[in-house]
Amino acid sequence: MCSLTESELEPELIKTPLDLNTPQICKKCKENPPCVNLRGNDTYCKTCFLTAVHHKFRSTLGKNKAMRPGELVCVAYSGGTASTSLVHLLKTGIESDHKKLLFKPIVLHVDEGSVFNLDPAKRLENIREKCNYITDFAFKVYVSALEQPTRVVEYKQDEDLGLQFETVKSNELYEAIQNIKEASARQEFVNNIRREAIVQGAKMLNAAKVFTGENATKISIDLLAGVSLGKGGNLANESGFRDLRNDDVMVLRPLRDVPGKELALYAQYHRLISFTDPVLGTGQDSLFSIRKLTEDFLVGLHNDFPATLSTVFKTSDKLQIQEDRTNVTKCILCSGGVDTSAEEHNALQATMWSTIVSGKGKTLDTDNQLTSMNLDILDITSLSLEDKKTGCSSTKDNTAESECCGQGDGSCKTSNVKPLTKADVLTSVCYACMRTISSFRDVNKLPANFHQQVQYAKNRSAMKNEIQDFLL
Ligand SMILES: [Zn+2]
Ligand SMILES: [Zn+2]
Repeated sequence: MCSLTESELEPELIKTPLDLNTPQICKKCKENPPCVNLRGNDTYCKTCFLTAVHHKFRSTLGKNKAMRPGELVCVAYSGGTASTSLVHLLKTGIESDHKKLLFKPIVLHVDEGSVFNLDPAKRLENIREKCNYITDFAFKVYVSALEQPTRVVEYKQDEDLGLQFETVKSNELYEAIQNIKEASARQEFVNNIRREAIVQGAKMLNAAKVFTGENATKISIDLLAGVSLGKGGNLANESGFRDLRNDDVMVLRPLRDVPGKELALYAQYHRLISFTDPVLGTGQDSLFSIRKLTEDFLVGLHNDFPATLSTVFKTSDKLQIQEDRTNVTKCILCSGGVDTSAEEHNALQATMWSTIVSGKGKTLDTDNQLTSMNLDILDITSLSLEDKKTGCSSTKDNTAESECCGQGDGSCKTSNVKPLTKADVLTSVCYACMRTISSFRDVNKLPANFHQQVQYAKNRSAMKNEIQDFLL
């Protein structure tokens, strides 16, 4: 029998706590009195600590060979501690005399007021507050809104912001979010929209690369929550240094080696101001969503076992990103690869089978279609999707098809676009996003751009099926 205890396996766990009665010196310079204690007995003076954080940021960029001189990079700024520290680190790096950073950052702030249905005046006030502060860092600052990400305007102090909020679009997004039943699905939906808005904004600014402020603590939480949410194949893109889900814009995470605590201390020592807006889940208990529960579990465990977050974080380093995406069908929600067209039986088919069987209730024994089925993978998938077409949440989906009024002079106002069914959307998303879409009460409440994408994906797959037999 193995006689190793947990403490012997992980030496970090048996470190004696810091004794405040004995005089300490900085572990790095061995001269100055320390002012931060990172873990156990790792004490540093202010200068050594700040240099170490800066070094971690630089080495992450260096070892990944991320940037070339003169390259334009769009820095996503939310107003929080991490993104403010990121902008400060970039400013320090560009102004430093030794090994200057040679790329050109611009700052993009995406306003998320529509998630909480804030009125335009309040949203403008929030934008002004954050952007007035961040323009002091001497980078160009641009602003867009979550519901209209392609309308990007430059922010200039003491000038009117030329950003008009379209009420129709902001209401559309707010209603879409309200239409989602589960809080976990709601959070995932907003995260995906936010990511897409940043990428779209960067594209409008002609930046091929984006910096985001995820730190090591957030990445550990994202990784474990991602596993629980069934992200599987797309997890490497969410937790690695590079996110290659979009073809023309690459998202990079230069703070991924800096833990949240060190970043908070960095911001504190530099007296950086952060604006913490409420997000979905703020002030809620740990049972609010899967992500919130994972966060509370990991952070709670980390208090007693200081190696927790770094162990989870190191696992994310081992995940490999699939670089060749030429034959990958993209999920319309998260831009990851669609991983649901399996050829062997898997958990997804088991879930679909249980849904079909539970949905039949007392009619199960008399259902000839089911009893004669030999559990073919395609049969189960199509039968499960068939249920979604006729299911209660989309009863009006199949009836509302309108016809053209017949006026050929362009005055025809009727639309012949078919309303969406849940089955249409489910076939265009990955496994994790299927959970989000399944949580929609009515998929027709999805913002308009998703309707177009679903239609496009549907036409594409129909065309693929038609020409399949003729392909060599
Ligand atoms: Zn020192
Ligand atoms: Zn997806």
